[in-house]
Amino acid sequence: MQEPFTKSYRLENREQTARWGRRLGELLQAGDLIALVGDLGAGKTTLTKAIGQGMGISDPITSPTFTLVQEYYGKVPLFHFDPYRLKEPGDMFDLGFDEYFERSGVVIIEWADKISQLLPPERLTIELEIVPDTDPASEDTPRSLRVSAFGERYIALAEAI
Ligand code: ADP
Ligand code: MG
Repeated sequence: MQEPFTKSYRLENREQTARWGRRLGELLQAGDLIALVGDLGAGKTTLTKAIGQGMGISDPITSPTFTLVQEYYGKVPLFHFDPYRLKEPGDMFDLGFDEYFERSGVVIIEWADKISQLLPPERLTIELEIVPDTDPASEDTPRSLRVSAFGERYIALAEAI
C-alpha cells in the first residue's frame, strides 16, 4: 500500500477536541473504519463521543472498556470497540468482530494498535497524545492529534476535515 496521507492538529482544550470530532462525525459514511491510538487518558473515548454526536446519535456514548463493544443506532449505526482488556487479539472473533464490517455502520476502535493485525488495511488512523509538559492540574490540557489516511476513501475524508 502507498504511504498514508497524514495531517496533524493541536487541540487546546476539550471543546476543540469535541468540535473536531463532531466535524469528523458529520463526514462519516456507512462502512467507514476509524482506528484510535493513544495512551490511557489521551482522549479516545472523548473523541468518540463527539464523533457520535456529529453522526447524529442521540444515545449517550459510554466507554466500552468492560463490554468490549457498544452498538448505537442512528441514521448510520456506530459500533464502538475497546479491546483494552482483551487477552489476545483472536478473542475479538468471539464478539463477531469480522461481521461488524458487513453491517453498514461506522466502526470505531480504541487501542487499535492492540489488534492491528486484524484490521482492514484501508482505514483512518487517529493518534492522540497529551502534549508533554502541560499543566496536569488543569481540566483542559492540549492534545496533539495526527491523522493517517490509508486508501482513497480515507484520503478524501482526511482532506475534507
Ligand atoms: P481514553 O479513552 O483515551 O483513555 P478519555 O477520553 O476517557 O481517554 O479521557 C480523556 C480525559 O482527558 C477526559 O477526562 C477529558 O475530559 C480530559 N481532557 C482534558 N483536555 C482534553 C482535550 N483537549 N481533549 C480531550 N480530552 C481532554
Ligand atoms: Mg477510552
